[in-house]
Amino acid sequence: AKTLAKPRIFLPHLVASLEQVDETYIMVKPDGVQRGLVGEIISRFEKKGFKLTGLKLFQCPQDLAEEHYKDLKGKSFFPKLIDYIISGPVVCMAWEGVGVVAAARKLIGSTNPLQAEPGTIRGDLAVQTGRNVVHGSDSPENGKREIALWFKEGELCQWTPTQEPWLRE
Ligand code: ADP
Repeated sequence: AKTLAKPRIFLPHLVASLEQVDETYIMVKPDGVQRGLVGEIISRFEKKGFKLTGLKLFQCPQDLAEEHYKDLKGKSFFPKLIDYIISGPVVCMAWEGVGVVAAARKLIGSTNPLQAEPGTIRGDLAVQTGRNVVHGSDSPENGKREIALWFKEGELCQWTPTQEPWLRE
């Protein structure tokens, strides 16, 4: 007997809604703030089309810096890294979007700014690993973890940008 072909139902709005919306924690480090690069860095994520859901200028206490970088605790540069992060105010940001974690890492560029491609934030704006101006979460799990670490619940804002239909079909 002939088997009937399975009906194919194409519902693009459903497909789109199944795409995972991620969150990432982006931070302008103290050198970026001191060098007046805050607007430039925010602008790159804004122009790409991601959604800002949290933003603040913040003097980071030592215990928070150590918790944030706990995976690097054994590294020789760890004490220097902590001193750097608490050396002045940082700008904390939460960004949301489909594929935002990986895309933000691409926009930021390699850890060593001399190896970062021109066009990336570090490639364009920095020269040394120890002064690489910006942080971005390395996985969706860490994105969630870091946003929860740096922001209190009331500091995050859920909103619908009106440009959405012009960014995603
Ligand atoms: P990324 O920030 O690109 O995810 P890592 O997670 O490896 O990079 O390191 C976290 C941060 O620690 C770096 O952005 C940099 O500020 C600092 N760092 C990493 N390696 C070194 C190093 N060899 N010397 C000084 N600082 C370093």
